[in-house]
Amino acid sequence: MIRSLDHEIADKRVVEAMKRVPREAFVPPELRAVAYEDRPLGIGFGQTISQPFIVAIMIQALELQGDDKVLEVGTGSGYVAAILAGIARKVVTVECIPQLADSARLALDRLGYDNVETHVAGGVLGWPAEAPYDAIIVSAGAPSVPETIVDQLAWNGRLVIPVGSRWQQELLKVTKLRTGNRVENLGGCYFVPLVGEGAWEE
Ligand code: SAH
Repeated sequence: MIRSLDHEIADKRVVEAMKRVPREAFVPPELRAVAYEDRPLGIGFGQTISQPFIVAIMIQALELQGDDKVLEVGTGSGYVAAILAGIARKVVTVECIPQLADSARLALDRLGYDNVETHVAGGVLGWPAEAPYDAIIVSAGAPSVPETIVDQLAWNGRLVIPVGSRWQQELLKVTKLRTGNRVENLGGCYFVPLVGEGAWEE
């Protein structure tokens, strides 16, 4: 998995950070044998741990510098939060399904990550209490770029979010500039739906 990422991902800090995270610790026991295949895997409750390649593309686009405060919306298994923890100063991650938030917390604690804060949240998108964030990664697909999420971004901050229909999205990178938001399209993708105010209904 790491060898193929190394070919395609230019930011070697992202590849190095991914090398340090055991993906097998974030999948259900019966899927451990396939944990390093480059595809999403079921984690229960109709949700998935994201495909490593798209995770790498998303984290690279966040342009982390090492001292950033990052928000992740959609903790899921905790895998992305663990990778972020290796590059950023602080990670705040929110999940709307309490059971997933609990098992992610457990997995992160077991591996000793002490710069990741997990919260159960969903109705209101993100975690405004700790805004602004230098970077925000949304691990679920939205019908449009939610204003409430952009509000939680610092000036010059980067947001990466899948936007489109429930079944097909484009990965957008939004840079919040004082002169207006710059939006870049990083390509097609497929994510489970982001639910909540300003996103999809349940
Ligand atoms: N990054 C995760 C992928 C999780 S899939 C991983 O590596 O495992 C996306 C997750 O987003 C799901 O667990 C889903 O429950 C959650 N989610 C959907 N809408 C949400 C919202 N508004 N707030 C928080 N979490 C949300």
